[in-house]
Amino acid sequence: MIPGAFDYHSPKTLAEALELLVKNPDDAKVLSGGQSLLPLLKLRLGSTGHLVDIGKIPDLEYIREDGGFLRIGGRTREAAIEHSELVRKRYRLLADTAEVIADPLVRNLATIGGNLAHGDPANDHPATMLAYGARIVATGPKGAREIPVEKFFTGLFETALAPDEILTEIRIPVPPPRSGGAYVKLERKVGDFATAASAVQLTLGPGGEVERAGIGLTNAGPTPVHATAAEEFLRGKRPDANAIVEASKLAAQAASPSADRRGTVEYKKAMARVLTARALNRAVARAQGA
Ligand SMILES: Cc1cc2nc3c(=O)[nH]c(=O)nc-3n(C[C@H](O)[C@H](O)[C@H](O)COP(=O)(O)OP(=O)(O)OC[C@H]3O[C@@H](n4cnc5c(N)ncnc54)[C@H](O)[C@@H]3O)c2cc1C
Repeated sequence: MIPGAFDYHSPKTLAEALELLVKNPDDAKVLSGGQSLLPLLKLRLGSTGHLVDIGKIPDLEYIREDGGFLRIGGRTREAAIEHSELVRKRYRLLADTAEVIADPLVRNLATIGGNLAHGDPANDHPATMLAYGARIVATGPKGAREIPVEKFFTGLFETALAPDEILTEIRIPVPPPRSGGAYVKLERKVGDFATAASAVQLTLGPGGEVERAGIGLTNAGPTPVHATAAEEFLRGKRPDANAIVEASKLAAQAASPSADRRGTVEYKKAMARVLTARALNRAVARAQGA
């Protein structure tokens, strides 16, 4: 299908891009990898008068550790995350996540900033960022502000970003020693969105008890689900089989999925429980050095 008419802009600086957003407050859209936005426009599920392509703006694509955070530029492509040595070695939850998003063709274009800014609860990065306790940097005409990820997803396809803001950076706290994470996703076929998926990031204390647990669920409600009761339950406990069974049940209770072609509500809740147990087991093993 052919999208409605729009003016295409290719600003060379962030300031220029922001100016275009300010000038067209109700009628401009940021274009990053285009993997969600372009299908929406082509199917005429959305329209815009101005597409502001941020692809030519320098310094929006990077992955580096700095000041206690892994900093990822908002326009960093999934393929870059998937193949980053740093991510594969120290951020295994993120590596697990990037490699199950869509297929290699999509991952060569799609960006992590677009994945989060789209506000789709079926996207994979939101749950992972909830598990990490990440922060999202939004840059607007008045400067940059940091949004804790738990305040970022405000509704179905809605985020805390203002229309004149660009998501410029994601900040993931550098995991302390004895940390491990895992993302486990059930999909109907390779490249599909999740029927259900669970993201877990854990830090163990010197005695093996859980010091910090982060758990997020994908496609489990109108917004990405933060399984806080399960996190609290685990804190201070040894992550043995009983604790994992109990925490997984609590995580599934936080889910409120809707029925669709991927399954019934009951099936999706059961999968949220099973996948959280698997992700917890894998995260514990990794935190213990596996
Ligand atoms: C065949 C296919 C399969 C897919 N499978 C999966 C999957 O399994 N898991 C998954 O998570 N996703 C999947 N996706 C979706 C896709 O990977 C993400 O939604 C995509 O990463 C969005 O990023 P983008 O850079 O392409 O964003 P775009 O499509 O360019 O933009 C998406 C939205 O975010 C806004 N936006 C983008 N970047 C910024 C920014 N920096 N600041 C402010 N607003 C911004 C845009 O205005 C738009 O509203 C799939 C897509 C396709 C086409």
